[in-house]
Amino acid sequence: MSENLLSLLNDSQKSAAEHIDGSLLILAGAGSGKTKTITTRLAYLISIGIDPASILTLTFTNKAASEMRERAFSMIDQASINTPPLLCTFHKFGLLFLKFHMSELGRKGNFIIIDTDDKKRIIKSIDKEITTSLLVSEISKYKNTLMSPAEAIAGAELKLYQQIALVYQKYQEYLLKNNLVDFDDLLLLPYEILKKNEKLAQQVSQKYQYIMVDEYQDTNELQYRLLRLLCATHNNLCVVGDDDQSIYGWRGATIKNILNFSEHFEGTKVVKLEENYRSTDTILNHANQLIEHNRDRLGKKLVGTRAKGDSIKVYESHDENEETRKIIDDIKALLDSGISAKDVAILFRVNALSRSLEEGFNKAGLNYKLVGGMKFYERAEIKDLIAFFRILTNSNDNFSLKRVINKPKRGIGKTTIDKLEAKSIQTQKPIFDLIQEFSADELAAIVGKKNSRTLKVFEASIMDLKDILTESKMKFLDAFEDTFDYRASYDNVPDGFERQGNIDEFYGYIRDYFMQNPHLELKDFLNEIALESENGEYNNEAISMMSIHASKGLEFKNLFIIGLEEGFFPLTGDGADIEEERRLGYVAITRAMDNLTLSFVHSRFYKGKRAILQKSRFLSESGLIKGSLTIEKQSNFKKGDLVQHKIFGMGRVQKATKAGKDYKLTINFGGTKRDILSSFVEKS
Ligand code: ATP
Ligand code: MG
Repeated sequence: MSENLLSLLNDSQKSAAEHIDGSLLILAGAGSGKTKTITTRLAYLISIGIDPASILTLTFTNKAASEMRERAFSMIDQASINTPPLLCTFHKFGLLFLKFHMSELGRKGNFIIIDTDDKKRIIKSIDKEITTSLLVSEISKYKNTLMSPAEAIAGAELKLYQQIALVYQKYQEYLLKNNLVDFDDLLLLPYEILKKNEKLAQQVSQKYQYIMVDEYQDTNELQYRLLRLLCATHNNLCVVGDDDQSIYGWRGATIKNILNFSEHFEGTKVVKLEENYRSTDTILNHANQLIEHNRDRLGKKLVGTRAKGDSIKVYESHDENEETRKIIDDIKALLDSGISAKDVAILFRVNALSRSLEEGFNKAGLNYKLVGGMKFYERAEIKDLIAFFRILTNSNDNFSLKRVINKPKRGIGKTTIDKLEAKSIQTQKPIFDLIQEFSADELAAIVGKKNSRTLKVFEASIMDLKDILTESKMKFLDAFEDTFDYRASYDNVPDGFERQGNIDEFYGYIRDYFMQNPHLELKDFLNEIALESENGEYNNEAISMMSIHASKGLEFKNLFIIGLEEGFFPLTGDGADIEEERRLGYVAITRAMDNLTLSFVHSRFYKGKRAILQKSRFLSESGLIKGSLTIEKQSNFKKGDLVQHKIFGMGRVQKATKAGKDYKLTINFGGTKRDILSSFVEKS
């Protein structure tokens, strides 16, 4: 069994997978089998008798984790093991840890994770002067460099930073008071707990005797320190990574972690992998040409193992509509030829570029998944329901309470909410407790008689629902609807039908979750979806659309990368780091296995205006323009198509013939035939 597992690896990969005790670093380029090596190692360790429960494997995205799980578990004899090994994202690990150990910080276990959107709202409510996005990113930086609010305040020299540090302090107080946890806390709090409790750190470290980390180049200081604590009693840490794929510098990831790994962990064995098994030779060559423009790199060797393959296509379009059309035509042809949707993906550097694609896909009836797009959970009705459910699990959560205290409308206005909030600050009590503990008259003295009555009814309903929830998780959704008529509140309102569809989908999802996990609670569900929404859902049956960041570690037979224009990719402007942009380019191209198409446009509608754009420097740096490949313009027009010309108006195509790089169309405009280059007309 053990030998069989290793037979699928080359010699270097094998030497890494067989390595058991002591630190191990696998440093190698894209597609060289790093992930394959550690998933095989995981199965190998189990096959030689190591307890699966003592192995911890960490990665960055849910999608990468589920792919790894699939790969590893197919190699493990499931029947022979009791507990499966833990393989998850860093954040999920943090969540599991906090479930058991939050009390170490004197906090309750019923904490709730807030998402990026909630975080923005809270921060905005604390300070409206400074741009919210700046506050969000600076606070995240403090946390990821382990700086407490007190330290941030002490260290701030500029006035702006003094103010930011104060917002940080208030934000932390708010989270504490409402027992909320943000994404950074999922790593920071476990670190703090382990740091201050050496005995616990020893225990946890002893539990996880073997630790592996994929994509180590993207770890930051906090993740490194956490790993150190997890390795307090041993040195069995195996990490894999590629300096050329370090793409989270902006979030504080530090390439130093990988460069200094051998110094951080004594006696490290270093393994290099030099063959790429993923991409055709053509794709690999262009990826290599691109990354060679970076100066700041270790310069590894990476040679192909596959045949030359087809050339890379480059699409040039007038605008995003034409770009979308071309891609959709190609994808339809791929699907018609029997290729499965899961083997097709579209990547972009800037999330906003998905909008025109989504629109086009919806019109064309193509099934797609926006990975990491937070599409579903961002919808107002879903956020409302989540807020209701949060209050049921944690009535301290003022933030959620304020969101739904007047939903569906029950006459509680903003003034009332402000009064309640002021009282909550004054008495240091959550709003919900105030409503509960104050008598109707006391409450009426603050908000008036009518509101007092309404609030008391609301409170009683929540308490009843809490009881029903403890009694039966399956019954509680119906009871919730009976009590609040939330779904019914969308009867006869514009887009109510769609919203009710979302609500039904969400209820269905919750029921399914409890059916499959009868031992878990509503709060577990809420925390899990918080992580899911950050990382995107996972669905095998659809074409994937995602940012390049989200595509890390994945591979697709047929790949499209759109938006290769200066300003979009690479991002230019303030704070842009061109070497990191180029690494993103390298990551993007190396996701492709067989077919790759890159696309750029002359103009794009963005942030309310149409911008005129230049094609990306990455096209020439990777040798795709001028050199091995000429830009091939595909005719998207065929006989019979209706087209629109700026001057001649509507016409019908009679013939399309190749003319240089473009296509000449013979078009009949209301009886007059004209020959026009295809780039001057649009399909109508
Ligand atoms: P990335 O840097 O993009 O994360 P990686 O180094 O982790 O890439 P993998 O995803 O593990 O690479 O492997 C890339 C592809 O090559 C996979 O399809 C994998 O199955 C295949 N592969 C890896 N090693 C071998 C091998 N020894 N023989 C055949 N195929 C292999
Ligand atoms: Mg990988």
